[in-house]
Amino acid sequence: MTNALLSDWSTPFGLPPFDAIKDADFAPAFDAAMDQARAEIAAIADNPAAPTFTNTIEALELAGERLDRMLGVFYALAGTDSNEAREALQRAFAPKLSAYSSEITLNAGLFERIEALWQGRDALGLTPEQARVLMLTRRGFVRAGAQVQGAGRDRLTAVKSRLAVLGTQFSQNLLGDERDWFMELSDADLAGLPDFVVTAARAAGQDKGLAGPVITLSRSIIVPFLQFSTRRDLRERARRAWVARGANGGQTDNRAIAAEILTLRHERAQLLGYADFASYKLETEMAGTPGRVRDLLMQVWAPAKAAAQADAAVLEQMMHADGVNARLEPWDWRFYSEKRRRAEHDLDEAAIKPYLQLDRMIEAAFDVAHRLFGLDFAPLDVPLYHPDARAWEVTRGGRHMAVFIGDYFARGSKRSGAWCSASRSQRKLGGEVRPIVHNVCNFAKPAAGQPALLSYDDARTLFHEFGHALHQMLSDVTYPSISGTSVARDFVELPSQLYEHWLEVPQVLAQFATHAETGAPMPRDMLERLLAAATYDMGFQTVEYVASAMVDLAFHEGAPPADPMVAQAQVLEQMGMPHAIGMRHATPHFAHVFSGDGYSAGYYSYMWSEVMDADAFAAFEEAGGPFDAATAKRLERFILSAGGSAEAEVLYTEFRGRMPGVQALLKGRGLAGAA
Ligand SMILES: [Zn+2]
Repeated sequence: MTNALLSDWSTPFGLPPFDAIKDADFAPAFDAAMDQARAEIAAIADNPAAPTFTNTIEALELAGERLDRMLGVFYALAGTDSNEAREALQRAFAPKLSAYSSEITLNAGLFERIEALWQGRDALGLTPEQARVLMLTRRGFVRAGAQVQGAGRDRLTAVKSRLAVLGTQFSQNLLGDERDWFMELSDADLAGLPDFVVTAARAAGQDKGLAGPVITLSRSIIVPFLQFSTRRDLRERARRAWVARGANGGQTDNRAIAAEILTLRHERAQLLGYADFASYKLETEMAGTPGRVRDLLMQVWAPAKAAAQADAAVLEQMMHADGVNARLEPWDWRFYSEKRRRAEHDLDEAAIKPYLQLDRMIEAAFDVAHRLFGLDFAPLDVPLYHPDARAWEVTRGGRHMAVFIGDYFARGSKRSGAWCSASRSQRKLGGEVRPIVHNVCNFAKPAAGQPALLSYDDARTLFHEFGHALHQMLSDVTYPSISGTSVARDFVELPSQLYEHWLEVPQVLAQFATHAETGAPMPRDMLERLLAAATYDMGFQTVEYVASAMVDLAFHEGAPPADPMVAQAQVLEQMGMPHAIGMRHATPHFAHVFSGDGYSAGYYSYMWSEVMDADAFAAFEEAGGPFDAATAKRLERFILSAGGSAEAEVLYTEFRGRMPGVQALLKGRGLAGAA
């Protein structure tokens, strides 16, 4: 038997032959690909020839390609369709990968070559992109400890590999808690729930082999349940279970893991010569320092809190008028907020939903990309890893640009949330390679034969992830390490959040929001109300987000907290967190911060990006409209195709002519007048 992961793929566009790959192939393929990668690295480090940009930096860019290819497939499967075998593999791979990456960055011979190139860089005649790749490569080595000597170096390796294991455990515990909890509903328990919630709950029940409907902790089920259920007791039970993810005691409890992660991150930063983890982490970001992050968050916090407090008073009054003479609690907010939305904006999510068909929203995202960037999308009939996943070929003027894979429905084996990944990224080095890009969401799957319907939030998520996908699909750089979304973390959400603005362009919804049964376009007044309500409850949303971002920042500034749960409570207390609003992600399930390093001391970056997306969309409006061709061209040239080929400030300033302030964001969130 040949191992499909190790053979050459003569598939269309070099897509992974998903139908030929078996779980048992991964472990041997991983070992073989790892051996090959090690040999490639050794050949670079031990090269007797003097270091050149080609024999060192370019060779490094291409080393480990087979391993990358194999891992691209593995992570696509482990994130979207996990099982015990894949979870065990993930646990086994994590420490080996961490050790491998340490071997590279701590390879003295290799670093010597890079350092020699760096010191002599002015004489190398490099292009700006090459100079940037050299700078980033060296900085990556230094930040990984290439200049740390002796016992500190061994300790650094141990800390990094332990952190990798803890991060994986954190995610798996979370997935375990999300999978295990569910609440069965009797007919009486369905009170207040619109059909789409009942249908989703029945499908979730069937998924678990039960006859009746169940509420699960999937965001697409629990959020509408909290919005619509008139049963305050059940809302309380469901919300308590939702916020208890990762804090249920026993083997899946994440609290001790979070504490250990924070302690080790601090130690790691100090070993590298930084005051604390936040200083280390922010060095490579557009924000630069913890102080600039706090400034931004606090400028937004005051008006957001004022708006939320005013809203809380209104909601509590509504609850009292309902005959519930209690304090407004976190399980009441979404319910009364939805009621108020219907009263004040006459906006009924259940009535809107039939107009937001998944397939039409996908078409809308494609159509906007066609109008802005000339992209065309054609369905591809190729074997994929799950029957719910779909593929399209992306072309421009007949030229192949990318393969786009959309995997939209929630299932028990899929990690929660929504994300974009590339199982192959774009590059020109060694011949042009075009990307394979995945968008993964967790929308409720419809009953057989029914069209999939989205909430407006779901549709935004779809556009958001598609914005990330464009950043990959339009990428046009030479070097893989700066391709697509390989940019500063607080810059990476700009393309995605910016793309959400096109969902709010009235002509887009007028064309693509058509009724699932009648095919009629969304009535004009419904559309206008929907768009007018876009800033509704922004106080709540901003507060729950900023609270999480401030806790994340506090965790990583200065000495690590002995007990993160106590530290979290202190931060919220100091900020004056409104009682009826919880953090968007509390510590035991704050996967952004603890499942890996990605958003640690970096959760603020969504808002940092929002400052820019509000300002960037205004550039279209100022230029004459949302489809202004010249602005779209600049957006592609300086941002969507540029990857990490220059500093984020430089790219943004080239696109816009200046840097943005916080005012555009406050205006966009409807908070400009508050506080
Ligand atoms: Zn995003």
